[in-house]
Amino acid sequence: MGASARLLRAVIMGAPGSGKGTVSSRITKHFELKHLSSGDLLRQNMLQGTEIGVLAKTFIDQGKLIPDDVMTRLTLHELKNLTQCSWLLDGFPRTLPQAEALDRAYQIDTVINLNVPFEVIKKRLTARWIHPASGRVYNIEFNPPKTVGIDDLTGEPLTQREDDRPETVIKRLKAYEAQTEPKGVLETFSGTETNKIWPYVYAFLQTKVPETNQKASVTP
Ligand code: AMP
Repeated sequence: MGASARLLRAVIMGAPGSGKGTVSSRITKHFELKHLSSGDLLRQNMLQGTEIGVLAKTFIDQGKLIPDDVMTRLTLHELKNLTQCSWLLDGFPRTLPQAEALDRAYQIDTVINLNVPFEVIKKRLTARWIHPASGRVYNIEFNPPKTVGIDDLTGEPLTQREDDRPETVIKRLKAYEAQTEPKGVLETFSGTETNKIWPYVYAFLQTKVPETNQKASVTP
């Protein structure tokens, strides 16, 4: 089946750390669709100091979700500007009321769900250690320090970002499981690494949406 000329309405879902950001940017590099990230939209509003931005900051700073009515209005308003192009929605919907509102407004063609085992995500996110004074970043698996927990250059102790601590990562993953994890999705791509998921997403989208003019390849 070739890519149809019809505009594609797609949603990408995946737990924090599932590689959603990486896969989304590869998709937009290779295919003609517009990427709309709810998190980016909120950060843009915060930067511009809009009313929604000021409100959003109070929730985001506490690690809470923005109320459904605000989030839905903001996203649907943004989508109204994109009637002439295919789009990939990322970060919305995150709750059932948001999904219902989106479903009332658009016929969604496909939901791409990145299904990465929580154990793998936990390992991935908690493997990162930093040296706060210099900003040097280590990864226990790919780029470990010479001595566990110690900065190579200064000999000072390494720490973890608040977000990357195992207890915080588990909290974020549990919140995703409880509030967001899609039920009855159309397409699920499973894998332990983004590089293993990507060829399947690529092959799938080739049947759905035109590729960009640049010479596309399966690698980033
Ligand atoms: P993200 O960059 O997608 O991780 O989003 C950053 C933050 O923005 C999240 O932690 C939420 O507080 C908020 N946010 C983004 N999308 C939504 C949404 N669909 N519903 C509620 N809050 C959201």
